Amino acid sequence: MIGVFALQGAFLEHEQMLAKLGAPYKEIRRKEHFTDGLDGLILPGGESTVQGKLLREEGLLEPVKEAIKGGLPVFGTCAGLILLAKRLSNDENVWLDALDVTVRRNAYGRQLGSFKADLPFEGVGNYPAVFIRAPYVEELGPEAHALAEWGEKIVAVRQGHMLATAFHPELTPDVRIHEYFLREFVS
Ligand code: GLN
Repeated sequence: MIGVFALQGAFLEHEQMLAKLGAPYKEIRRKEHFTDGLDGLILPGGESTVQGKLLREEGLLEPVKEAIKGGLPVFGTCAGLILLAKRLSNDENVWLDALDVTVRRNAYGRQLGSFKADLPFEGVGNYPAVFIRAPYVEELGPEAHALAEWGEKIVAVRQGHMLATAFHPELTPDVRIHEYFLREFVS
């Protein structure tokens, strides 16, 4: 059973991906939805500051942080990467304090607000990545490993049981990155 954060952002699209892959899921909106027995967690794209505040208001921030620390597999996309990061270079917030990376928000400037790029993704192959006001990873800690780069910027990482992308695999019909998460992290 995969929990999908459904507080804000592109959670429906993640649910459609999971449905396509035949993986059961449930929406997490409040503390009481975040029960034992989850096999993984998805943090969707959206607006990280809004999501972080909602997590805090709902009393979810600490329990989720603890669960991730305890090894719950997690997959964050875009704003989800920002929520997972231990360091943000252009924002004073730190939310889940989990992934040993420094992330820059809205990192591509105005001209490149949104774009699509075909990029090689380790373990998956070439992937059509959709970026929307995306972050990138400026610095990797020793535990974190880059899975994809675009223009010399790291745009996907894994660290132990955590997977994060700066782009939105839920916004393309290509299910391979979700499949990769379920196969390599959850089972
Ligand atoms: N710009 C958003 C943020 O900083 C992330 C964008 C996204 O999730 N598509 O939170």
